[in-house]
Amino acid sequence: LSKSFQDHPSHLKLILLCTTVTGGGLLAYSDAASSEVPVTEKKKVVVLGTGWAGTSFLKNLNNPRYEVQVVSPRNYFAFTPLLPSVTCGTVEARSIVEPVRNIAKKKEVDVLFSEAECVKIDAENRKIYCRSNMNNNLNGKEEFVVDYDYLIIAVGANVNTFNTPGVVENCHFLKEVEDAQKIRRTVIDCFERANLPNLSEEEKKRILHFAIVGGGPTGVEFAASLHDFVNEDMIRLYPGIKDLVKITLLEAGDHILSMFDKRITAFAEDKFQRDGIDVKTGSMVVKVTDKEISTKELKNGGEIKTIPYGMAVWSTGIGTRPFIKDFMAQIGQASRRALATDEWLRVEGCNNVYALGDCATINQRKVMEDIAAIFKKADKNNSGTLTVKEFQEAMNDICERYPQLELYLKNNQMRGIADLLKEAKGDVKKESIELNIEELKTALSKVDSQMKFLPATAQVASQQGTYLAKCFNRMEECEKNPEGPLRFRGEGRHRFKPFRYKHLGQFAPLGGEQTAAQLPGDWVSIGHSSQWLWYSVYASKQVSWRTRALVVTDWTRRFIFGRDSSRI
Ligand code: FAD
Repeated sequence: LSKSFQDHPSHLKLILLCTTVTGGGLLAYSDAASSEVPVTEKKKVVVLGTGWAGTSFLKNLNNPRYEVQVVSPRNYFAFTPLLPSVTCGTVEARSIVEPVRNIAKKKEVDVLFSEAECVKIDAENRKIYCRSNMNNNLNGKEEFVVDYDYLIIAVGANVNTFNTPGVVENCHFLKEVEDAQKIRRTVIDCFERANLPNLSEEEKKRILHFAIVGGGPTGVEFAASLHDFVNEDMIRLYPGIKDLVKITLLEAGDHILSMFDKRITAFAEDKFQRDGIDVKTGSMVVKVTDKEISTKELKNGGEIKTIPYGMAVWSTGIGTRPFIKDFMAQIGQASRRALATDEWLRVEGCNNVYALGDCATINQRKVMEDIAAIFKKADKNNSGTLTVKEFQEAMNDICERYPQLELYLKNNQMRGIADLLKEAKGDVKKESIELNIEELKTALSKVDSQMKFLPATAQVASQQGTYLAKCFNRMEECEKNPEGPLRFRGEGRHRFKPFRYKHLGQFAPLGGEQTAAQLPGDWVSIGHSSQWLWYSVYASKQVSWRTRALVVTDWTRRFIFGRDSSRI
């Protein structure tokens, strides 16, 4: 700071001194530093979204040559992995959000924020059309247009209802902070309603039946949190109705948590059975009314069953936002499910537009090229074939880079490759077997082109945001020195090295202070110790010291006093 102080002209020194004394030092310094670059020389970067991808881009961008405009209907970042904890009051909603203006208060870059949603992208004329989502009357001024030099699309995804009738009208979703708050109120509401004197036993049972649709990580974690809330707090307060409560988890596939290791799936299913959570696998929801859910029993010849319920939460995966669909049609990607990018996160079919996070997917062709390069590297003698051991090493690399691929191979009966993979992951004895690389490549190229090779997780989104910010920080330097240092030049097609995902593992909290952790290298840990790992990781991953302190305080409050059951 003192060095920068000496470097600045006297009027800036005065401002710096005054604002440092009043506690606003960094903010005043920021304006000074970024204003050193004339506005006319600045490139305008528009960022859509303040989720994991957009925020991590913002946090890591530090080149004052950019002028950034962020457009998002949310003026805060939400730490989504803790949303299930908000549904039951284990942590408070405000503890997991950070105002985007706090994050944008950077020292190098000018950042402007507009609370609005983008409704249309015109890539040809480099414009986006936005609409404010505020309810107050803006007399027709709620719509505006923003020009850009670079556009970063990080708008996440919609919930996917698969057009199942009645879902939108009758089910809760768990995607946004408001959803979690609504679920919390509804759970308490169900208990209060079931406690009214004039209801029949049957009606009380219906009201206290909580149905969760989707046995993925979010559905499972919510079921576990709800079970803890009911058993640790609610039955103490509502002793008369405690035996009437039921939690059902409906899953169309054969198992819950199918994206996790088999040991975790088996442990979760056993634990839920012991806890009295009814896990119905092979049950596909086909219709939801205000009081009943209809399911098609896939294991029972497609028999249709109806289940009365009091509250339903729909958590079956993600879909594309409508304005992104329109944009995809505009750039020749109408048949795709997510915006296809290359490995540098550039949207295919237009210039200076990047997409990252849940709304994007890396083009299959590029992934196959990458896989071919990994096979080639594993083939040390250049013989065109791999031993099982070499295949094992190559496949481990591939699956670490594209974790969804392994799951896809297992689930889509790509027997040949899946069996080899299984064999390769196990104890390899058949050293002498040789596998033809061309055949392996052909087999892998049959993978559905719609598959998202990277999982739709916060981990991927935030790594992509960091990667792209680093590219932007160096972009000018690369343009000035096209023949500059090798590290800026990449592999001939682009100036930067392509994005490479680093999988750091995943958690599945199962309730009762037990969590399953699957870490790289197929390392699995389940139980109380993993729960402490979960606490440490999620505390350390908070975006600010403020939210970190709030979250840890909430956990401590819950340990001492339990969860709050007031319906406010
Ligand atoms: P998001 O974080 O969804 O952000 C999208 C942003 O775009 C938002 O700010 C939104 O307001 C904004 N936006 C939307 N529409 C527009 C528009 N028209 N114009 C401008 N802006 C717009 N991942 C993990 O890795 N680990 C976990 O434990 C985990 N748990 C999860 C639990 C829950 C309940 C949920 C819902 C998700 C969880 N995830 C987890 C997944 C993770 O949250 C997502 O993968 C991640 O949020 C994707 O980041 P993103 O930036 O692409 O999208």
